Amino acid sequence: MNMQANTGNLKQLDKSHHLHPFTDFKDYATNGGRVFSRAEHIYIYTGDGHKMLDGMSGLWCCNLGYSQQGIVDAVTEQMQQLPYYNNFFQCSNQPAIELASALVEVTPDSFNHVFFTNSGSEANDTNLRLVSRYYQLQGRPEKKLIISRKNAYHGSTIAAACLGGMGPMHEQTNGIDYVHHIEQPHWFEVGPDEDPDEFGLRVARLLEQKIDELGEANVAAFIAEPVQGAGGVIIPPDTYWPEIQRICNERDILLIADEVICGFGRTGEYWGSETYGIEPDLMTFAKAVTNGYQPLGGVMVGDKVADVLLSHEGEFAHGLTYSGHPAAAAAGLATLRILREGNIIADTAANIAPHFQARLRELEDHGIVGQVRGRGMFAAVELVRDKASREPLAAESAGALFCRNSANDLGLMVRQTGNAMIIAPPLICDKGEIDSLVDMLGQALDVTAKHYG
Ligand code: PLP
Repeated sequence: MNMQANTGNLKQLDKSHHLHPFTDFKDYATNGGRVFSRAEHIYIYTGDGHKMLDGMSGLWCCNLGYSQQGIVDAVTEQMQQLPYYNNFFQCSNQPAIELASALVEVTPDSFNHVFFTNSGSEANDTNLRLVSRYYQLQGRPEKKLIISRKNAYHGSTIAAACLGGMGPMHEQTNGIDYVHHIEQPHWFEVGPDEDPDEFGLRVARLLEQKIDELGEANVAAFIAEPVQGAGGVIIPPDTYWPEIQRICNERDILLIADEVICGFGRTGEYWGSETYGIEPDLMTFAKAVTNGYQPLGGVMVGDKVADVLLSHEGEFAHGLTYSGHPAAAAAGLATLRILREGNIIADTAANIAPHFQARLRELEDHGIVGQVRGRGMFAAVELVRDKASREPLAAESAGALFCRNSANDLGLMVRQTGNAMIIAPPLICDKGEIDSLVDMLGQALDVTAKHYG
């Protein structure tokens, strides 16, 4: 199809009929958006010829960029061999079996089982089902409260939205009543007057206080992203996770690490849990497991939970038509093979991530930048009007939205959360490409500073 010729028509059809996620429907129906037609390496192209460096790896998922022929071939071959069969009722398929084993290979030793879903949201729903089954089988059904964190993102199904801690999602959802939230370890926003390490300990201990308040006998689990991604790449102080781990070890609750963004190398190790020394009982994954080329998510189930689930009879009454879809599993297997054979996670952590972080830190000298924070291959740049008071650049995130739009116009795809610019480029960027990214972001900051100056 000649995309160029059809772009005008497509944009019109898009505005007329297509409801987009996390989008102002009314605004989109009037103004529309960008229609992408192709992608190559780390670049995405609209039908009308605008080239953009993808500084967000799609939605934090195309960690290996857009030209991984090995994944395309694996999916194509699988579609020709067995395009679909389900994994219900004593059935299985080769790619799902092999991907389960491959995932066990790349997770900590205590993980030997996986339950497949199509997305991170469904995987977090699955976590809730697994956790309640775990306690019910042990005759402790009253242990059903879940503790999560403010500003967390755990997905968009009803349960996942309730697990998350984002205000607008709660306002638009008739929630479930067994999820409770504690403060996030966002030093820049929540604790700027405190020593970061003291702050980390203080907010971690809010978990202990919440367990006491709700009653340990009633609390089932704590769920958290090793680094809150969509919330604004919230890098926890070094003291935070060891204290959370201590509390989870001492108290009778399960720890769920949502690795949907952090997993598969984003933080510098395979899992964010490794980077932060976390020992979770359950791990949620999705996104980069297939490099975003196929919808696939799942839960890695640790032995503590699996031992209980596997030692009781009776069906686990949960599953999805496409759990362990052969084509998605083939994409996952190919992705894991490329990561392994290219030694990509370790190489990126050693060579590209330090350059990325160092170049971004240079932006801290910019007049409207209050903080640059990041780890591995993701980062946030906070925009302020006044560095000392940390007053945001403009009300209602307008400054960061303006900066994001400026970056987009300059040819850089980045994202905005609150007053921060968010950057999570593919792991396969080279140093020159990182330089281009940071240069474009710097130009967008200049345009923004001038606008608000
Ligand atoms: N968990 C985290 C940490 C996420 O960032 C996301 C999506 O961004 C999800 C869960 C939901 O994943 P999905 O969009 O695949 O449902």
